[in-house]
Amino acid sequence: MDRFSYKAGAARIEFGRGMLSRTGEVMSDLGCKRAVVLATEPQRQSAQDLADALGPLAAGLYAGAVMHTPVDVTETALAYCREVKADCLIALGGGSTTGLGKALAYRSDMTLIAVPTTYAGSEVTPILGQTEKGLKTTLKDNRVLPSAVIYDPALSDTLPLGMSVVSGLNAMAHAAEALYAQDRNPVSSMLAVEGIAAMKSGLRRIADDPAAPAGRDSALYGAWLCGTVLGQVGMALHHKICHTLGGSFNMPHAETHAVMLPHTVGFNARAVPDQLEPISQIFGDEPGPGLFGYCKSLGAPTSLQQLGFRQADLDRAADIASGNPYWNPRQIDRDGLRAMLQDAFDGAEPPRGGC
Ligand code: NAD
Repeated sequence: MDRFSYKAGAARIEFGRGMLSRTGEVMSDLGCKRAVVLATEPQRQSAQDLADALGPLAAGLYAGAVMHTPVDVTETALAYCREVKADCLIALGGGSTTGLGKALAYRSDMTLIAVPTTYAGSEVTPILGQTEKGLKTTLKDNRVLPSAVIYDPALSDTLPLGMSVVSGLNAMAHAAEALYAQDRNPVSSMLAVEGIAAMKSGLRRIADDPAAPAGRDSALYGAWLCGTVLGQVGMALHHKICHTLGGSFNMPHAETHAVMLPHTVGFNARAVPDQLEPISQIFGDEPGPGLFGYCKSLGAPTSLQQLGFRQADLDRAADIASGNPYWNPRQIDRDGLRAMLQDAFDGAEPPRGGC
């Protein structure tokens, strides 16, 4: 057996429909008395409902979370939390709200409880991305890890179909890259396989019937597993490309992950077919084409062009993504990358044989 290092997270996880009602109990177990509920403006009502249910345990509500965790928003929220003497943060929402909770936990000794309502998975990673004056920086620190995560699938029932699909595929991309991660271990690989399978079946059912609870339950379960492996092992080509397309070309986060996933996995399948065999098993085809057919069947975006990317920018994207060497299971050559990006731009099926 290969040697490996394994670090288990310390967070308490509560999973299941109705678990939101345990929030007060979780707070008390963690020794907390005054929580500020965090949300985005569109999710203000859900946050208000939770604050009402918490009664005297709620010290306030801050519904100013936005994408990319801008530092000025964090500072305003921090001043508010200090004013109401909060000792606890409850981040109810997607990755943007979790990001605000993490940024506040990083700057204070408030206890963070996450209540995720999308499939992004940030609630179980020690990673925090923040923006200041248009620049994004990412840090990795266990101080940003929530002390507890409450996964109540009922909260994700309202996530619109299109957003559910791309959010779920974004999560699946973490688990797909975890399968060939340099620092993978037997547990991370098991979690990744289970996460991909649960997300696959969840998204299929959601696409067929967005209101069906079983699909939502399975997708949120998959999101937990996929997020967990993102927090445990390093990512490679797929995340580098998506970071490039998002950071340098302002492409939408989850949609870009959804388009690129079959292409990056197909590209790497040539180098590590054994490690990606679980994807072939789950999707019943070669990894790239199998994922491509599945994403298409869900109605996910399948081309960069469709997302507004410009053909004229493909060369620059290939230059950036092939610059600054980083670890990937298949050696990255600029021409190979450029060809892969062209396929992704056109919405073509990734080549068979993983070429
Ligand atoms: P998001 O949090 O930005 O949410 C998008 C919109 O959907 C918001 O308006 C939100 O209020 C709304 N929404 C969320 N849940 C809903 C629900 N159940 N019903 C109706 N509306 C709902 O989107 P996201 O994709 O969850 O998060 C993306 C962000 O998370 C990105 O900034 C990304 O970088 C970050 N992220 C970070 C990590 C990490 O480990 N640090 C991991 C994954 C994603």
